[in-house]
Parts: sequence; C-alpha cells; structure tokens
Amino acid sequence: MRGLVRFARARGIPMFLLGRGSDLVVSDRGFRGLVIHVRAEETRTDGTGYFAGAGVQMARAATETQRAGLTGLEFGLAIPGTVGGAVWANAGAHGSDMASVIESVDVLLADGSEARLPVADLGFAYRDSRFKHASSPAPVIPGNATPGPGEVIVAATFRLEPASPEQIRERLDEIRRWRQAHQPLGLPSAGSVFRNPEAGPSAGALIDAAGLKGHRIGGATVSEKHANFIVAERGASATDVRRLADEVRATIRATVGVDLQFEVEFVGDWAGWPWPVTPGGSADA
Ligand SMILES: Cc1cc2nc3c(=O)[nH]c(=O)nc-3n(C[C@H](O)[C@H](O)[C@H](O)COP(=O)(O)OP(=O)(O)OC[C@H]3O[C@@H](n4cnc5c(N)ncnc54)[C@H](O)[C@@H]3O)c2cc1C
Repeated sequence: MRGLVRFARARGIPMFLLGRGSDLVVSDRGFRGLVIHVRAEETRTDGTGYFAGAGVQMARAATETQRAGLTGLEFGLAIPGTVGGAVWANAGAHGSDMASVIESVDVLLADGSEARLPVADLGFAYRDSRFKHASSPAPVIPGNATPGPGEVIVAATFRLEPASPEQIRERLDEIRRWRQAHQPLGLPSAGSVFRNPEAGPSAGALIDAAGLKGHRIGGATVSEKHANFIVAERGASATDVRRLADEVRATIRATVGVDLQFEVEFVGDWAGWPWPVTPGGSADA
C-alpha cells in the first residue's frame, strides 16, 4: 500500500483508498484515478493492547479480541468495514465507537513521513476524524466528489480491558441478534444514509414518521426495516440511490424543517449532479 500511495503521489495521480466499500455510493461513471484496496491484515495482541492493520475487518477484530479475553471491541461486529474505514469515520454502534478504544493510529502523512499519532491527535467526534478533512496533495479531478486521502491509515492500536471470553461471547451474540432484527442485512446498502441530527429524533425516526419507508426510485428502496437505510436491488444504479436519498432529504426539509446531512460518502465522478432524468425514468449517467 505504501508503495502505491507514493507512486500515485509522485506522479500526481488522484487516488482513492478502498476498505470494504461499506460506506460508499460510487458513481455509475466510476472514479477517474487509482483505487487502492487496503489489504494490510496483520494483527497481534500484547497484554491489553491489540494491534490491527488497516485492512483487518472489524468483525474479525471483535472475534479475535473476544478469544483473547479482551473487552471493548464488541461493537466492531456491527460494522461491516475495515479498521482503516472505521478509524476514518470514527465508526460506532451499541454505545461505543473507535474513539473510546483506540490508543494510537499509524499514519502515512501527506509529506510522505510516517507517524504513530495518539488518540488525542485524531480529531475524533461523532462519526468524524481528522482523516475526513486531510486533503490530498494530488490534483483534484473535476467531478470526483472526494479530493483523495491526504493521510493514509496504516494500522491502529486499541487499548482494551480484560474480561471472560464467555461473557464477551454473550455480548457478541446479543449484537448479532440485534442486527438481524433491526437491519436489512440481506440486500446491499451503505448503512445509515444520514447522520443523526444533533438534537431531536434520529434520522431514521424522521424518515419513518414522514411515511417514506418502502419509497422507491428504480432499484433503490427506503428499507422497511430501518428507515435510514436505502437498499439496492439487483440492477439498481448509484444514480437511483442518490436520487432517492436527495428526495428523502428534500421531503424531511419541507415537512419538518430539518436539514439532514449525508453519512454515506458519494465517491467518483458526480460532476453536474443532479443529472437530467431521461424519459425512461432514470437519470442520465
Ligand atoms: C449494513 C451496514 C451497517 C452499518 N452499520 C454501521 C454502524 O452501526 N456504525 C457505523 O459507524 N457505521 C456503520 N456502517 C457504515 C460503514 O460500515 C462504516 O462507516 C465503516 O467504518 C466503513 O469501513 P470500510 O472499510 O467499508 O470503508 P470504505 O467504505 O471502503 O471507505 C470509507 C472511507 O474511508 C476511507 N478509508 C478507508 N480505508 C482507509 C485508510 N486505510 N486510510 C485512509 N482512509 C481510508 C475511504 O477512502 C473512504 O473515504 C454500516 C454499513 C452497512 C452496509
């Protein structure tokens, strides 16, 4: 990964770091640049410390630490992404988040040097981190929604607490059951489409109250199970998903005056969005 990042930076090639893609809606026009799939999968346990490469899946981190008798990362089972993607988003669930358990993150900085940054330097807030704001020195290609990563997450070290593996396993089972009951896991989605507003009802509760569950454009539908999820059926396009998300947002603004902010990330060439809708019904991609 380091070699590819340096290669792209040296030549000024726009790049995008891909974890598991579980937070992304990639344009039907694609991404013009180099997509680097992060596969750093080393892990080690040292006392109450757990080290994981950026490409390690959060579910694996949750089960590995359970077996090691370390509690704190159980919420990772609910996050279908990698350690790198979860640090980027300060992902969280079930009353915890990355900020609560991370000790430090190993980073490839924009100037090419590497550093181990302590948690205090990571700019963690609700679903936010410094990495969301570190822009790439590479040129921005018109239309690519994100300018590319200025800083690359290489690995993370977690500080956990000792606990009995049986108790932790029970907690993992609870989380598994909760997800199956409350989230549409059978169909592709990018998780919560909108951030929860700072005050008042959650985004899902607002969308539900507006009667938008089941609302559909093309192959994209507001989930009946969780109103803040948009699920994509076979043949759905990113254009369908974005049009539906825009419509939900406009409806909530018009009916209750709340301006929902996107949690999902629109990646790639979205130049000129919203695109004109063709007579067939789908927007022109
Ligand atoms: C069914 C479902 C349920 C979900 N539930 C939750 C939940 O409960 N809580 C929650 O917080 N999220 C949830 N999500 C959203 C998503 O899983 C998380 O945001 C996750 O952290 C994204 O990780 P990823 O590896 O898939 O990242 P990707 O989607 O691949 O990438 C996300 C961003 O991170 C950047 N990135 C990835 N790796 C690196 C790296 N090594 N260095 C720098 N930048 C990097 C990417 O460039 C991109 O900008 C859910 C998603 C789905 C589909």
